[in-house]
Amino acid sequence: MGTVTLALLKEKIKSYNPSDLAIIERAFHFADKVHRGQKRKSGEPYIAHPLAAAIRLAELKLDPATIAAALLHDTAEDTGVSIEDIRREFGDDIAFLVDGVTKLGKLKYRGIERMAESLRKMFFAIAEDIRVVLIKLMDRLHNMETLAALPPEKQKRIALETLEIYAPLASRLGFGDLKAALEDLAFPYVYPEEHAMVMKLAQSEMSERANYIKRIQPLTEKYLRDESITILDMHSRAKHQYSLWQKLLKHDMDIEKIHDLIALRMIVPTIEDCYRALGIIHAHWKPFPGLIKDYIAMPKPNGYKSLHTTIFGPDGEIIEIQIRTPEMHEEAEHGIAAHWAYSEQKKLKDYRKNIASTAKDAELSWVNQLRDWQNEVTDSSEFLESLKIDFFKNRIFCLTPRGDAIDLPEGATPVDFAYHVHSAIGNSASGARVNGKMVPLDHELGNGDVVEVITQKNKKPNPDWLNFVKTSMARKHIASVLRTAERDKIFGQKQGGQLVEVRVIGKDRVGFLNDLTSVVASFKINMKGTRTERGERSHPLIIMNCPVKSDDELKKLITKLKSVKGVDEVSYRII
Ligand code: MN
Repeated sequence: MGTVTLALLKEKIKSYNPSDLAIIERAFHFADKVHRGQKRKSGEPYIAHPLAAAIRLAELKLDPATIAAALLHDTAEDTGVSIEDIRREFGDDIAFLVDGVTKLGKLKYRGIERMAESLRKMFFAIAEDIRVVLIKLMDRLHNMETLAALPPEKQKRIALETLEIYAPLASRLGFGDLKAALEDLAFPYVYPEEHAMVMKLAQSEMSERANYIKRIQPLTEKYLRDESITILDMHSRAKHQYSLWQKLLKHDMDIEKIHDLIALRMIVPTIEDCYRALGIIHAHWKPFPGLIKDYIAMPKPNGYKSLHTTIFGPDGEIIEIQIRTPEMHEEAEHGIAAHWAYSEQKKLKDYRKNIASTAKDAELSWVNQLRDWQNEVTDSSEFLESLKIDFFKNRIFCLTPRGDAIDLPEGATPVDFAYHVHSAIGNSASGARVNGKMVPLDHELGNGDVVEVITQKNKKPNPDWLNFVKTSMARKHIASVLRTAERDKIFGQKQGGQLVEVRVIGKDRVGFLNDLTSVVASFKINMKGTRTERGERSHPLIIMNCPVKSDDELKKLITKLKSVKGVDEVSYRII
């Protein structure tokens, strides 16, 4: 069964890259051997899964290394094959990709609030090479296509993760069709009732709208041809189910308000043709106010470009029309991959792509950035170099054994990691295991490391840690614990407490100082020193250093001191 699809894969690759099929064959046979005897839950031989992912990537015209890595992407997972084995067989580039995909697989998803941010960061960090993300997306697409074979709880978890992480990721990368496919595959598992309702609502409405299109399409073609606009393609596209549901939610579930249930889409040769076509269409049919959208002049954040308009058709029916060039269409369907479809002429020496994101990873408009850079830089090797600007280059991401991503600066150690997980874990850290191996606490962590902190009860931070920790959070906690320990020494008491400098300004009468110190003594506070400053003031300032056990005690002390005869003002500061 595998060989049939291998032939298909080779066929697809041949259409854009006739060389380098040998590596594909070798990767296939390696994976086939490793997975031999393994079955998917669907009953298919396991190799069908990596093959499916590889074929999708070939459809995006990706380079042979990516496709080989897709074939190998599950070989380093519980099979006794190591990344080193893959490196030996297939070289650094492919080993890097397989390693990245394997690391991404280690992330465990436990709810959107908690995981979305760290997952996203993780993606962008581990995936220094965007091809890793592409393989992972195609891996997920095939897993979704075969989700029916899994038990219900797993279906729901995987589908939810797809909806919340993978589909938005596909969207950010500009893969419109992949995003739609992932969402529609996940929709019935995550929201079964809503899905059934949307299907029912759409069904009756859909055929009516399809009839509108049938009526308007030949007229549109005629109007454009009369003005000698070349139509490269004209087709209708139905809104996909999940986005239809999202839109229904915004419009009181009223399907009559959804004008783009089916849209008429046309591809014309140039940008100028796009605007001319829009004008011609508006000359025949009135546009719906407020719904003319120029995404050519103002592309969407993920780089999407097109002209959209909604018009009243010949019988007053409302229809959305989308106009774009072939390049815009290619980008809308294939996203960022449209820019680097493999071609030999480009002679790409280094195919590795760093993901450049905006500094805070808040809004990823990097598809636009890439486009801008591409426009500025004509030489393709220079363009690739510019892609390496990576806002994350000074950050690393490590995993807890449970799969939570912890974001750290480069050079961070297990102590930094421990404090980022929890201050109590940092304070009681006694050792660490990185990727299963014991390491010293000053060990420099690497991207994607799985870090397990070993704790010991009653353990205290070591002052030496301050010499190697990299994060201010670790430094702050260590310093604070050490300060408390120091204070305990001064106070001679086990439980905490603070040394407070109490400052009293008051009339310098006979017995004044004595009255103040008696108040302090009445709290059983063993004063650590007192002094009087006169300076320019009319009244002296008396400073008493008092070890105070609690906030409550401090408040009471201050109140009591204020009631002493002759006192004008009492203030304090913690030292
Ligand atoms: Mn897989």
